[in-house]
Amino acid sequence: MVGTEIPAQNGASTPQDRRFGTLAVHAGAPHDPTTGAVIAPISLSTTFAQTSVGNPVGLYEYTRSSNPNRDHFEQAIAALEHAKYALAFSSGSATTAVILQSLAAGSHVVSVSDVYGGTHRYFTKVASAHGVHVTFSPCIELDVEELIRPNETKLVWIESPSNPTLGLVDIEKIAAVAHRHGILVVVDNTFLSPYVQNPLDHGADIVVHSVTKYINGHSDVLMGVAAFNSDSLKERLGFLQNAIGAVPSPFDCWLAHRGLKTLHLRAREATTNATAVAKALEASPHVIAVNYPGIDSHPQRAIAIKQHRQGMGGGMLSFRIKGGQEAAHLFCKYTKVFTLAESLGGVESLCEVPSSMTHAGIPKDQREAAGVFDDLVRMSCGVEDVEDLLADTLQALDKAVAATKVGNGTA
Ligand SMILES: *Cc1c(COP(=O)(O)O)cnc(C)c1O
Repeated sequence: MVGTEIPAQNGASTPQDRRFGTLAVHAGAPHDPTTGAVIAPISLSTTFAQTSVGNPVGLYEYTRSSNPNRDHFEQAIAALEHAKYALAFSSGSATTAVILQSLAAGSHVVSVSDVYGGTHRYFTKVASAHGVHVTFSPCIELDVEELIRPNETKLVWIESPSNPTLGLVDIEKIAAVAHRHGILVVVDNTFLSPYVQNPLDHGADIVVHSVTKYINGHSDVLMGVAAFNSDSLKERLGFLQNAIGAVPSPFDCWLAHRGLKTLHLRAREATTNATAVAKALEASPHVIAVNYPGIDSHPQRAIAIKQHRQGMGGGMLSFRIKGGQEAAHLFCKYTKVFTLAESLGGVESLCEVPSSMTHAGIPKDQREAAGVFDDLVRMSCGVEDVEDLLADTLQALDKAVAATKVGNGTA
């Protein structure tokens, strides 16, 4: 028998209700029907033979429209995000672009203000040029209702947790308001991955990911994906996927699918590591504040407990170091296991200073209003051993703070 059938034990597990790890390994991963290959070959062919005009041999005609590796990856993501459909794109940014392109000119979008920098750039510099206007809100749970414009607002865009301050949004609360007005809710779930959070279960209509981060997880693929349940969204976004052509290569789909198979293992380990690092930072005299949704000091910890698997915090955290921007820069210079680099979600730990790197494009007053101070350091915890990450963090803190000559107790 070809495929991924796993015998149900005592009738307990049908393919539909299998658990995350089983789905991550098996969803969209059929054995090759002709050779029995357990791992699908990479289908590099751009075109597929037809036996007579309009009668392709198999399911495929031309690779931009669909190809076996993209289909497999999309099936796996749909299973893991509890969606009927998933569509893969050439980057997270292309995913955002296609969703915004699906709106008619004159449409209005309400968005959380601390969205990913590239999303902010697309909203303000590209979508606006096509007549789609976005209103940003720093406290969307409080003012979504009054920001909605009758007949104009078509989307509410949420990122939870936000970047880099790890603020959370109650998805269910926003969806209830949006749906009363017939408006769709999009959640960028990049920071948590489908292992930690499934936004569709909380009422979102579309979940998007930069696959580049946790889903691929090995910092070697640029890709994006959107998942949803609606047949009309499948028709509209699927049409644009092909018509715009911002699609990933079969090779990238194959690599991302391979990465996805260990997502549950990586996400659990990253959460364990980030929790330990967050607690150590919190206990350090060199630290002003820690932002991590997995610990009780997080102001929206209750949302994490409601929305995240077992209240997990994921692998991302940020903290303010004593000694200002100089100390933040030095901290990232002195770490030896954490690499100073942008991006996140890989097996290797990274750190960066948002005000000087990922968020440097945002004016200082706006940045600081969102909590992105010059002394903020963002860390992406990978899957190295926790003792090494802790030791690395503490030695870099000591050195950075000593070098900026700020003693204990002074902020
Ligand atoms: C990286 C990222 C994106 C953009 O994805 P690319 O794959 O780099 O285009 C969007 N949202 C979030 C939260 C991200 O971290």
